[in-house]
Amino acid sequence: METKYLFVTGGVVSSLGKGIISSSLACLLKARGYRVTIQKFDPYINIDPGTLNPYEHGECYVTVDGHEADLDLGHYERFTDIRTTRANNITTGRIYQSVIDKERRGDYLGKTVQIVPHITDEIKRAVKALGNTGNFDFIITEIGGVVGDIESLPFLEAVRQLRWELGDNSLCIHLTYVPYIAAAKELKTKPTQHSVKRLQELGIQPDILVLRTERHISPEMRRKIALFCNVAPDAVVQSIDVDTIYRVPVKMHEQHLDEIVLHKTHTPIEGEPHMQPWLDFLHKMDNATDTVTIGIVGKYVELQDAYKSINEALLQAAIYADHKLKLKFIHSEKVNGGNVADMLGDLDGVVIAPGFGQRGIEGKFVALKYCREHDIPTFGICLGMQCMVIEFARDVLGLAEANSTEMNPTTPDNVIDLMEEQKSISNMGGTMRLGAYDCVLRDKSLAADAYGSQTISERHRHRFEFNNDYRDRFEQAGMACVGENPATRLVEVVEIPSLRWFVGTQYHPEYSSTVLHPHPLFRSFIKAAIDYRDERKKSEKQ
Ligand code: GLN
Repeated sequence: METKYLFVTGGVVSSLGKGIISSSLACLLKARGYRVTIQKFDPYINIDPGTLNPYEHGECYVTVDGHEADLDLGHYERFTDIRTTRANNITTGRIYQSVIDKERRGDYLGKTVQIVPHITDEIKRAVKALGNTGNFDFIITEIGGVVGDIESLPFLEAVRQLRWELGDNSLCIHLTYVPYIAAAKELKTKPTQHSVKRLQELGIQPDILVLRTERHISPEMRRKIALFCNVAPDAVVQSIDVDTIYRVPVKMHEQHLDEIVLHKTHTPIEGEPHMQPWLDFLHKMDNATDTVTIGIVGKYVELQDAYKSINEALLQAAIYADHKLKLKFIHSEKVNGGNVADMLGDLDGVVIAPGFGQRGIEGKFVALKYCREHDIPTFGICLGMQCMVIEFARDVLGLAEANSTEMNPTTPDNVIDLMEEQKSISNMGGTMRLGAYDCVLRDKSLAADAYGSQTISERHRHRFEFNNDYRDRFEQAGMACVGENPATRLVEVVEIPSLRWFVGTQYHPEYSSTVLHPHPLFRSFIKAAIDYRDERKKSEKQ
């Protein structure tokens, strides 16, 4: 079949969940056997979100091919199990960079380079590049931002042109907000009408409207919106707040969003999407009664999106273990010797979060010492793994000033050190060790048992590494380097085999955990946490 292009735009306000709607639609189309991918355009000048701090943009996600990407790509993968690449996330900065590079090369043959057509052509090229691979039946392109933003204009102009060129092989889904005014006890459609008008002024007629709302929108009100917006009444869908984002695909299917898309793009509709595994997951979620409590020790605890993929990976693992997940965020700057028992004492498991820089680092060491000495299941991720190594060096190897050269460039014991290939790098953007690398796990290690395999591949985002000069001393003292990169011998996984579950990974396993394939290491960690909780309960009773 010819590739179909679905554009998702947003109106009224941001944070309506275009990423979740796009992911849900992709999930449904995939469950119907179609080959789908989702792409996100971010209308900011940064080349990628790699240089953005989490306060600006939440978590930075990493694709297997080593691209630092918007966190929506995490949703795409979690909902669809389809790997994204650098072609799936493009910013204004990247578009301009490639146009300016072409201009410098002389590719424009003396022409004046302009937003239309040169920037818009570059955007269109980026949309079609995915279609031209021949790998996909549907390309869902999410336009970041809100209609009416200055930043979004070139993207919307490109969408207008593409709609015109592609005809029925494309459509536009517009996501808007229908607020409930408590004082008037009424839902209001006017913001939606205005936002559709804005879109129409730009030459784009939405084909489908998805209305975000906290309350049920009556069929009558939907008909009214349809009338005002030139949209067929059955193509006005509501997206009412739900307890979990993972219910959204089901809610969208109940209102036939997938069928409307197939119908409008003249794609045959055969039977129902195969959603059983997804429904099984929701069933487990709804029927879990026991709770497992996990603490995340990090410095961005006030930001709900800063550790997005870790939260989701933990949740998925808990659900597959038939448990509810209770997450407790622990501010690493606030942890000290005096309060650590209060802060961590009642947890079933502890995650030491990834991160950069000095802030909050000492609290991570205090938390790790407590976890290690009390044998609490502990999972260190990236910086969390590096902290495990440093804390062990200080407390067990007796190297009191051991550190990472990231935190103290003149430490006498640089147990974590800058990677050799990083030493000549001065630019910050896109220059870390990024993307998927192979790792070989030691036979019978906890990690190898969890994966059920000794050869794995996981995604990375770091500049510093375990210093192999210290490896023998760690091994002798009881911290085992059980995973290494076969080409470079870079240490990827450490464990303390004498403890019940104490594992650190230099890579980020959370990026590859999905609803239908929760990550084995997170599953193993959650299982250990549940066992630990049960053991404590038992001994309390005795
Ligand atoms: N700051 C550490 C490094 O660059 C860890 C990075 C991370 O946790 N993602 O190596």
